[in-house]
Amino acid sequence: MNYNVAQLLKEPIGSQRAFTVGEPYADLEPPVEYVAGAGRFVRTHQGVWVEADVSVTVMQDCSRCLADFNRTLDLELDEEYLPQVDVRTGHRLDVPEDWDGLYIADDHTLNLTEAVRQSAIAALPLKPLCRPECGGICDRCGRDRNQFKCDCYELDIDPRWAALRALIVD
Ligand SMILES: [Zn+2]
Ligand SMILES: [Zn+2]
Repeated sequence: MNYNVAQLLKEPIGSQRAFTVGEPYADLEPPVEYVAGAGRFVRTHQGVWVEADVSVTVMQDCSRCLADFNRTLDLELDEEYLPQVDVRTGHRLDVPEDWDGLYIADDHTLNLTEAVRQSAIAALPLKPLCRPECGGICDRCGRDRNQFKCDCYELDIDPRWAALRALIVD
């Protein structure tokens, strides 16, 4: 997801470029499997602003049943990237000391990976669920309750009912 923005950096503030993205994606944490979307680069007075709507497919483990599942997140990218090298002279630029954002690489390419990664992390739930009604793993018998109906918890809703139930079952 590298885009050469050398030409855009030479243009006046407000100049724009549309771009699209659609590619598999590897070696990221969280594991992002695919990114697709579109957006634009806008020349700002100090760098390049990225505005984009992308959807990413992320692999997660369910916090209840531990199964792997894919989730698609719709992300809005809204990030400014600063150049570290002057595109006309090749001289290094002073970057603002308080800048904690992203940078354009020395070869004037802008890499969307970090913006996508940060945005994906912010959008992911802390306790992912494979589906809202996931039954999870029973902490008494260890069975996956999506696949087996155990009655570990039904029996002690009320001891009197449990006693009654035992009579019925017998
Ligand atoms: Zn689950
Ligand atoms: Zn159980």
